[in-house]
This record gives sequence, structure tokens and C-alpha cells, in this order.
Amino acid sequence: RHHPMPQQEPDPTKKTLLVLGTGWGAISLLRRLDTSEYNTIVVSPTNFFLFTPLLPSVTTGSLESRSIITPIKYFLRFKPFGIKFVEAESTQIDPASKTVEILDSGEVHGAITKTRLPYDYLVIGVGAESQTFGIKGVREFGLFLKEIRDARKIRTRLMDCIETAAFPGQPDDEIRRLLHMVVVGGGPTGVEYAGELHDFLRGEVDKWYPEIAPHLKITLIEALPHVLPMFSREMIEYTEKSFADMNIDLLANTAVQEVRAKELVVKDTKSGATREVPYGMLVWATGNTMRPVIKDLQARFADKGQSNRRGLVVDEYLRVAGMPDVWALGDCTATAFAPTAQVAAQQGTYLARQLNDLARTNRTGNDILATCPPFDYKHRATLAYIGDERGVSDVSLPFWSNMVSFAGYQSYLFWRSAYLSNLYTLRNRALVAFDWTKEKLFGRDISRE
Ligand code: FAD
Ligand code: NAD
Repeated sequence: RHHPMPQQEPDPTKKTLLVLGTGWGAISLLRRLDTSEYNTIVVSPTNFFLFTPLLPSVTTGSLESRSIITPIKYFLRFKPFGIKFVEAESTQIDPASKTVEILDSGEVHGAITKTRLPYDYLVIGVGAESQTFGIKGVREFGLFLKEIRDARKIRTRLMDCIETAAFPGQPDDEIRRLLHMVVVGGGPTGVEYAGELHDFLRGEVDKWYPEIAPHLKITLIEALPHVLPMFSREMIEYTEKSFADMNIDLLANTAVQEVRAKELVVKDTKSGATREVPYGMLVWATGNTMRPVIKDLQARFADKGQSNRRGLVVDEYLRVAGMPDVWALGDCTATAFAPTAQVAAQQGTYLARQLNDLARTNRTGNDILATCPPFDYKHRATLAYIGDERGVSDVSLPFWSNMVSFAGYQSYLFWRSAYLSNLYTLRNRALVAFDWTKEKLFGRDISRE
């Protein structure tokens, strides 16, 4: 418990490895990196790792936010050689001078808020931000589900809508609007959030606010004909049928065109007809887009093969095209793989091996030896919780070419046990197990913090 952080003075004989980010890719790399080989510096605006698969459960208080985050220093304290962590945002990457501009983006500022860090080797793992497609009003009125603070905001806004609907004399149509919870995007983020919201409304709001509960409504809006495009057909059908059972209204073939303070403008993608949909709370989950620091970098390397709208172009060794000694991994890259934690984590493991190997052989730069194999992704499973103690799972088995799919209560138990065991620390596993037990015994907290 009282393991101190190892200290390390920079060693001038070693190369400086700068890692941007403390997400799935970066943490997986740092856990396996031989830190005795480098002067390692990690820069990230969050001084913790967030276990994103359980983030939807934080929006309704099934899990507390601190149960699914781990301070970066907890990972690093067992390393025999120290790593320097700097809480800051990287704002400009300059491969020509081999420096990165960083900015203290916290609320408290000292005398210095901006500086440049030099590197010999750079790993970019800054992830992505929420996509809005530039649709008017999304940033102003919608809520995202990407960061831990987003989940807290959703929890507060939900209770605000409910308490406002319960205000004495509130007209019926206003109660209906305030209690209309809209989720945009039928990918796994939107589906899992809709499921968690269903559980909270049925489990808590029905009980504590019986006078307004009959007006509660959840609508999931998806531009394509079906939800969860990355799942097997059976799992998609099961999810859509389950949503019908749970009274979650699925508006497929419907694209949101504009968001206003109290209503959305939606378009039927088949007929082209538009209409207004009043709402109380809007959660926007339509995928990823590049962070500004990546957009800026790309723009300066457009003539060197960097013009993919999904992210940085890397080769099969994760080297960034056109930039010597720079690697990138995870959601900030454009590869053949989906932007998932599974991919980012495997890329982190792969890159750690490559960097350890690079330091031990007398190579300079990121020239790859013929013996270094390219990155090879092994897909294990795609899992989602869809509410009402039901899950959907598509699992790839070793030595078996077909995928095994199963849905329902067993799949929900599998989802829980898989994520519980995937949490990186014993402390997080204990906290999550405790939160689940607490929820079973006492229900979820309905306070608006
Ligand atoms: P991230 O994990 O997003 O990490 C990026 C890091 O960079 C963060 O530490 C961030 O603070 C930091 N950063 C941001 N800007 C800067 C900057 N300018 N400079 C330096 N650092 C910066 N995938 C799955 O495989 N299974 C799931 O069940 C699953 N569930 C998900 C549920 C939700 C709600 C969400 C949003 C995503 C889910 N994903 C899941 C996708 C998965 O979270 C991402 O693919 C994964 O986080 C990508 O890892 P990454 O390291 O590229 O980025
Ligand atoms: P996504 O890109 O998977 O899905 C976004 C959905 O929004 C799409 O189906 C798209 O058709 C729809 N959409 C886009 N614009 C729209 C509009 N204007 N109106 C209505 N619908 C619109 O996004 P996500 O769910 O945020 O997932 C992002 C990544 O994270 C994916 O790679 C996903 O696999 C991963 N993830 C995985 C899990 C899991 O494995 N359980 C959970 C969450 C996220």
C-alpha cells in the first residue's frame, strides 16, 4: 500500500522517450516498457487511466467514478526506474525540431503554463474526441459520453430534468418533454447508455417519483437501418427486440440534422421528411473525430501521406508516415482495425516490445529490423450490456474459426465477469464489486450532486 514512487534523474546516456496520453494504448505500453532503457516522460491532461467499458454505468450511479479510474502513479510505482509524469495537454507536435509543445490545461495555473519538451522517440496515444459532424447545436445542448466528467454531467442533468418535471404545477406537455431522454447514435456507446438509463428509470425513478414516472420515455435515434453494426446479425436482432420489450423507442433510418435548446430536428433518411422532436436530455454518441493536436499535425504533413480523415496514418509497425522516430497507437490512428480498447491495448503491448528491443540492439531511429514482426491484431470478443440484465456477446475462440454468439442473462454475467477481471488493479476490482453489491442492497443514489 505504501510503495513509494521510484525517482530517477535523467541519464544523459539514454534516449528520451515521450509518451502522449494515459489511455488504453499508452498504459498498456507503459506497463510493459523496460523503463531502465529510457528517460521516459508521460504527458496527459488526465493524471489517471479511465476504464471506458464501464463508463456508461457511472452515468446512473451503478458505479462510482473513482471505481473505474486509476491514478497513473499507481501503475508506475512498481517500475524499478522512474517515469516522469506531467499533467498537461500536448498542443503542437513538431517532428522537425523533435519537440512537443505542452500546455497546463488545468484550472490552477502557476507562473509557467506552456513549454516545449524535446524527445528522441515519441509515442502518440492521445485518443479521439466526440464526433458531431458539425451539426448545429450539438456542442451547445448535447452531452457526450467519453470522459469521466461527461458521465458526471449526465448524472446531474438527468436528475435535474426529473426534479424540474416534478415542480408543482408543471404543465403535462412540459413534463413529457422534460422526461423524454434522447440518445443519438446506435453504436455500442449509445446502446449501452440507453440500457443503463432504462435500468435507472425503471429501478429508481419509478419507485421514488411515481407521480411523474409514467411520462418517462427513452428514444434511441440511429441514421442506419440497425443498431450495433459491429455485432453479428443475431445479436443485433436480439438487441432490437429487447429494446422493444423495454419500451426503448428505436428510431432507425433517422438522422439528426439540428439540435435546439428544447427540440431536435430529425430527418427520415428514406422519405426525406423532417420533423421536430422535443426532449429533456440529449446524449450524443455518434463516434470519434480527431483531436485538435492531431488535426494540426496532419495538416502540416498532408504532402507526406497524412490526409486520412479518421486519424494518423501508420505502417504495420505503428510508425507514423513521414515522421522519423514517431509512433502512434489507438483511436488517434487510421488503421484497418476498429477504434477499440482491445486494439489500443494490443498495440501498446506490441510497441513496448518493439521499444525494449530497439534499446537493446544498437539501432538508431525507428528502422525496423527484418526480424521484428509487424503488428498482428487478435480479436477476442465484442461484448455489450443492453439493460434489463441482458447482454450480447460475440466471442472468437482460439483454434475455432467460427464466432460464438450468445445473448441474455448469461451474456450479462459474462460481460460483468470479463470486465471485472480486465480491470487493471485489485483496488479497482474491489471497488467495482463493492459498488455492484451496494446497488443490489440499497439501489442507486438519486441525489443531484
Ligand atoms: P484513450 O483511451 O481515449 O486515451 C487517450 C489519452 O490521451 C487520455 O489519457 C487523454 O486524457 C489523453 N489526451 C487527450 N488529449 C491529449 C493531448 N492533447 N495531449 C496528451 N494527452 C492527451 N472499446 C472496447 O474495446 N470495448 C469496450 O467495451 C469499449 N467500451 C467503450 C465505452 C465507452 C463509453 C467509450 C467512450 C469507448 C469504449 N470503447 C470500448 C472504446 C475505447 O475506449 C477506445 O477505443 C480506447 O479508449 C482507445 O484507447 P486510446 O489509448 O487510443 O485512447
Ligand atoms: P460508432 O461510430 O460505433 O456509432 C455511431 C453511430 O451513430 C453510427 O451507427 C452512426 O450511423 C450513428 N450516427 C451518426 N450520425 C448520426 C446522426 N446525425 N443521427 C443519428 N445517428 C447518427 O460510435 P460509438 O458507439 O461512440 O463507438 C465508438 C468506438 O468505440 C467504436 O469503435 C466502438 O466499437 C467502440 N466502443 C465499443 C464498445 C463495446 O465494445 N462494448 C462500447 C463503446 C464503444
